[in-house]
Amino acid sequence: MKAINFINGSWLDSKATQYLDVMNPATGDVLGTVPLSPAVEVIKAVDAASQAFPDWRRLPAQDRAQFLFKYKYLLEASLDDIARTITMECGKTFEESRAEMRRLIENVEIACGIPMMMQGYNNEDIAPGIDEMMIRQPVGVCAAVAPFNFPAMVPFWFLPYALVCGNTYIVKPSERVPFTMQKLFALFEQVGLPKGVVNLVNGTKEAVDALLDHPAVRAISFVGSTPTARYIYSRAAAGGKRAQCQGGAKNPIVILPDADMEMTTRIVADSAFGCAGQRCLAASLAFTVAEARDSFTEAISDTAAKRVVGYGLENGVQVGPVISQQSRTRIEELIARGVSEGAYARVDGRGTMIKGFEDGSFVRPTILENVPVASEVFQTEIFGPVLGVIHLDSVEQAIELINNGPYGNMACIFTRDGAAARKFRYEAEVGNVGINVGIAAPMAFFPFSGWKDSFFGDLHGQGMDAIEFFTQKKVVVERWPKEWSRKF
Ligand code: NAD
Repeated sequence: MKAINFINGSWLDSKATQYLDVMNPATGDVLGTVPLSPAVEVIKAVDAASQAFPDWRRLPAQDRAQFLFKYKYLLEASLDDIARTITMECGKTFEESRAEMRRLIENVEIACGIPMMMQGYNNEDIAPGIDEMMIRQPVGVCAAVAPFNFPAMVPFWFLPYALVCGNTYIVKPSERVPFTMQKLFALFEQVGLPKGVVNLVNGTKEAVDALLDHPAVRAISFVGSTPTARYIYSRAAAGGKRAQCQGGAKNPIVILPDADMEMTTRIVADSAFGCAGQRCLAASLAFTVAEARDSFTEAISDTAAKRVVGYGLENGVQVGPVISQQSRTRIEELIARGVSEGAYARVDGRGTMIKGFEDGSFVRPTILENVPVASEVFQTEIFGPVLGVIHLDSVEQAIELINNGPYGNMACIFTRDGAAARKFRYEAEVGNVGINVGIAAPMAFFPFSGWKDSFFGDLHGQGMDAIEFFTQKKVVVERWPKEWSRKF
């Protein structure tokens, strides 16, 4: 299998001189190859999107939305097939892949309401006989650069909104998981979108830089690690583009002594170990407060040790592999570093071997207790199924640690105390707060992004922020004197 580009309504084999292997991280099998498309192919995609823009923009928004209605029904019919591809190239379990597809579809559904969401406003008689209105117009050619961990969903935090707002689009998927997007674009082909309205280019840095440097690309949405987010934000901004760049995270969960310990443990385990910890909203630090210390630590250690690890297409598997052997090595090294810096590996996932999948990149859920605040594992995004547990005396201490950290994607609290929960919601410096919820992932009609080093930009993905990002406001002040009327 070879990933190919989709430009101007046609599937085009790349002329790349370099290809990368795409692996199934559970089996170690090579699934196929992905081209590192050269800049000239990106320029072709931008030209196609530029040419398609005037006619697409002129199509009424309600007619543009019709394409998404059709697309939704094709997605529903192909949900399991695409979910299987996600599991094969990304590693998460089949149920997790199906859940990812559901979140993608939710974004498509919400974007169908854009004809109303992109309405402007209007004041009559701001002065006698003079009216003023604000209208929204599309920005032009827009592009998404996506990470590996949600190969289907992430570009759809942006793409459906961009399209119905009247923009044309280019997707650059992660080179590690290109085949999911091939399937999603095959469905676009069936929908019959006009040529050039959506385009797909595979590749890495050269392709991304070509998007960043092309003057016709007016807006970039990026999701990935913090160093890349920072780089893309500054290079896009230097070229005068709109940019929204979502980065990495280190998400803490605070457990107060009055929490429902059974429910809390189950939810925190799903948050920390689901998708093998490769989620920007994964719990990676648990702060126990006072007497929560022993009950939570024992329960979460027990749950971690019992999680079923294996190939995500097999029944009953709860934790799939991490994305690659390099990633596995990096995670194991970070666990080792944590231990050498003073943490206690209460449950240790290093050296995991799954029978029948000896070439897979598996790491069992790991609990590191008493992670020192100054240590590398406390500060670094591990992006694997590793939960650091830290014992504190008060909720104030927990909030202080959260606010002193560089990231600000998500923080959660588990308690029955409304006042403590309110204080937490009020003071935690993060973009998403969970209260008795372990993955505070906003629905498609809410904006989604983090704060601090988890996000570079101002307008978030999804919801009304997407309308702001993918439209530019024009204000018109008009006067039509009565005496000019021909009195028909
Ligand atoms: P990554 O930064 O390595 O890659 C993301 C994308 O950027 C890929 O398409 C890649 O080809 C491209 N890229 C990588 N290096 C580049 C460079 N130097 N110049 C130009 N383009 C470059 O991220 P990843 O490993 O694919 O994804 C995991 C990261 O994504 C984690 O840090 C995770 O927290 C983050 N993430 C964040 C969110 C969020 O909403 N904040 C969501 C999902 C993932």
